[in-house]
Amino acid sequence: MSELLSAVLAGEQPLFHPNTGLRGDEQHLSPSARAGLEAPRYCQICGRRMKVQVRPDGWLAQCSRHGELDSVYLERR
Ligand SMILES: [Zn+2]
Repeated sequence: MSELLSAVLAGEQPLFHPNTGLRGDEQHLSPSARAGLEAPRYCQICGRRMKVQVRPDGWLAQCSRHGELDSVYLERR
């Protein structure tokens, strides 16, 4: 399991906004982002821009440092 995936599954507060890459308290996730329906564009741990692959059934985001985050794991929650 990647560091990124474990952080998300643990419900850790993102250090960086997954959609905007902004740091700090200005984090207002949209309902669909919270539900894991939107692909994140930035790593929530380090704020790096992630490589994102969108599939018909979801998405796969990859941080070069913190690993993969697959929407499959979010849908199971
Ligand atoms: Zn990262």
